[in-house]
Order: sequence, then C-alpha cells, then structure tokens
Amino acid sequence: MSAQCQHCKRSPKTLKRCAACSGAWYCDASCQKADWLIHILDCNIGRPITSADRLGAAVRQGIPPVDAATRTDYGFLHTPRPDDIEKRMKVYGLLIDGLGIRPKTIHQWSQAGALSRMMKATFDSNLSETQRQGVDYQWFSENQSTFGGPPPQDVATNMWLLEAHQKARERISRTTKNSEFDALRSIDGFEDYFLFYTLMLQGARPAPCDGTGLWESFGFCACFDQNEEGYLGSRYLSLFRTATFQEFIHACDNSTLLELFSAYGQNIQSPHIRDVIRSIRSRKSVWTLKDFVCADDELRRDSKPALPICADYGFFNCRNQDEESCLRGIYKNILDRPDSDPLALHQACLQGRIFEYCSELVTLSPPAKFRRLMKNPYPLAEVQEDSDPHARPGPSSGEQNPLTQFFGSLPPGTHRIEQSDLRRVLQDYWQSRSDEGPTVGTFMKRG
Ligand SMILES: [Zn+2]
Ligand SMILES: [Zn+2]
Repeated sequence: MSAQCQHCKRSPKTLKRCAACSGAWYCDASCQKADWLIHILDCNIGRPITSADRLGAAVRQGIPPVDAATRTDYGFLHTPRPDDIEKRMKVYGLLIDGLGIRPKTIHQWSQAGALSRMMKATFDSNLSETQRQGVDYQWFSENQSTFGGPPPQDVATNMWLLEAHQKARERISRTTKNSEFDALRSIDGFEDYFLFYTLMLQGARPAPCDGTGLWESFGFCACFDQNEEGYLGSRYLSLFRTATFQEFIHACDNSTLLELFSAYGQNIQSPHIRDVIRSIRSRKSVWTLKDFVCADDELRRDSKPALPICADYGFFNCRNQDEESCLRGIYKNILDRPDSDPLALHQACLQGRIFEYCSELVTLSPPAKFRRLMKNPYPLAEVQEDSDPHARPGPSSGEQNPLTQFFGSLPPGTHRIEQSDLRRVLQDYWQSRSDEGPTVGTFMKRG
C-alpha cells in the first residue's frame, strides 16, 4: 500500500490516522496540525463549516475562495482589478499564517460585524514595525472598510471578474508555482499585465478609454479596424495557450513581447502594431492621441487628454471646450480612416508640421485657427527662436510657460524629449496651480 501523508506527501513506514474522521493519514501530530486548516473542510468536526473555515483553507492553499458565501463575507466582491484579489489574500495570510489567528475567531468577529475593526486592532498590537511598513498592511489600511463591510452596488461585474480571475489562476497554476507567481507580483506594471491576461482569457477585449489603458498598451490602438483588433486578440490567446504566464510577464517587463510571439511561431507583421508592442511600458504619444480621440462618446465624456498629447498635439492651445472638440474631431477623422498612418502623423508632430500634414488630408478652415491649435514645441530649436508669444503652447502668453522653461534648459539641437520628463514638468506645473484650477481650456490632470 502506498499511502502517503496528507500534508508532506511522504510515505513513512507507519502513518497515523485522523481520529475524528479516519479519512486522512499523517506522519505525526505536527503534520496533522499543519494540514488542519485544509483538512477541516473534509473532517468530521461536529459543527457546520463556516465561511471563515473556507477562508482559512484558501489562505493555506494560496488560492482565493470560490464559494459565494466566503467571497461575500470577506470582501472579495470589492475587486476592481484581479490583483486586488491577490492583495486581499495576502492580508488574510498576514492574519492567519503570520499572526496565527484561527478561523473560528475570525468567524466570531465577522458574525459580530466587527471584522475590519478587530483586524485593525489585532494588526496594530501584534505586527512588528517592519510588517506595518509592508505592502500588505498598507493595502489593508487603505481598504479597511472593504473588509467585512457591505458588498458594493455593482456585484455582477465583480462576480464576473472573480470568475475570470479564478480561470486565469487555474491556467497559471499549471506552469507556475504559487511562490513564483508571488515573485512576479512585485514587477512594475504587473497589475496591468495580469488584468490583460485575465480579461483576454475570459473573452473580453479592451476598448479605447475604457479606464484600463490596455487598448493602447497592448497594441489594439494600432489596428485599422475591429476585425484587425479581433485578429490581434486571437494572437494573444494563442500565445497564452503556448507560452507560460511567467514568460508573458517577463516579456512585458523586458520589452520583448515581439520576440516572444516569434519564439512561438507567430510573427506580428503590422508595422503599426509592432511599433506599439515593442515596448509595453512606453510608446509614442500618437497612440495615446488615438486612444483619446477614438473612444466612444459615452466613454470619452469625462476623459481629458493626457499631458503628453496636450503638449504634442496642441490641446494646450485650446481656449475652450469647442476648440478642444474641434481639434479632437480633426484627429479622429485622420486616425479613424482605413488608410490612416499614425506613424506619419507622429513624424509630422516631431517636425512641428501637424497643420501641414493634416491639411493635406482634410480641409482645415479657417487655416489660421488650425495653425494656432496645431502648434507644438517641435522641433525644439524652433521654439527657442520663436518670438511670437501667441505661437507658444501653454496657458497664456502673459505668464511663464512651463514648457518654455523646460525647453529653454535643454542643450541646443536637442530634438527629442523624454515623455516622462515632460510629464513631470507638466504635473509639477498643474500641482503648483491646483488651488486655482486650470485656467485655459478644460484640461485637468488625469490619472
Ligand atoms: Zn507528513
Ligand atoms: Zn479528519
């Protein structure tokens, strides 16, 4: 007989049987104790299994709970993103594995409606200073009200996401150990990559301005139409069937997604898609522009142009909402057509020739207005020589313009600007003015 210990999976000569149910075998009492949080679900314990028992087993197995009661009682319905499920699990791990709090106790807290309060008190009096600085406790502090509070209004979406997350984790676990998965979670951008993986496996596809940014970062913005988007989606799905989750995450992190596609026999041909997914973490501002102008009106209503496109594509020049809509309409017209070439628009942008480029494709009337709206700081040397204050991008001619200040500090002949530097400069600028609010156009900080 090849019986093995339920906990450590070894097969010593003699195994001891669980006295309560006779259905599980262990090396000794320590193996039995270590397995108890999991075995309790199958054992004969003389009382009903509670959702806290299921939570304990889930924590010990490193797999989020799948039953409705546990999900509801312990806040798993508050799940805007898949990684929030992992974060919530880590908090319960800190409580159950880290501090040894028993599920029975947690059940009592929950029944008394005191879960989040008791968790806070327990953490505060038992965690070390280092643990309190850690990400798990920090996340608990920020989301304390979702531990045991009432479920959110829109439960259907979150239930859907929980199912999607469960399916993704099942697939990931075929090739990736829990410890390896945890190591991946510390990678910058992981939450987005994991969200994308989860949504794709569930048959969802990202859309412009859907709040995730995935339409842009994973190259859907570079497709000519929805058919090509569908095709790109199917390429990702085949990649997820062949490459491991680890390979996918590392490829996103190292900007080697194209190489990963090739390694699994799929060559992405479109130069536009190649341009975007060459680097998931940063891309040309023209793709951000396309994301912004191509969104459905419904999704776009509250969104404002991101800072890089404010500067590069002239949204900073707009004096009011009408001018902004007008400019957006022109770019939409140009980028939404089947023969559009966003990379050519990008080149025109870098040369400071957006007006010239666009006027070859569409009628811009009156020309003077569009020349003003499409003015940008490129090429940079030209801005330094420009003496016309109205031609400069930015808030208003009477005050120091952060862009002018920034460009003025660049060495002569510099024609490229790091998007992150620009973002930083503009963000500092808006922050310094946050009391007054934006005065030109309607631009706000986004994200
Ligand atoms: Zn054992
Ligand atoms: Zn038992």
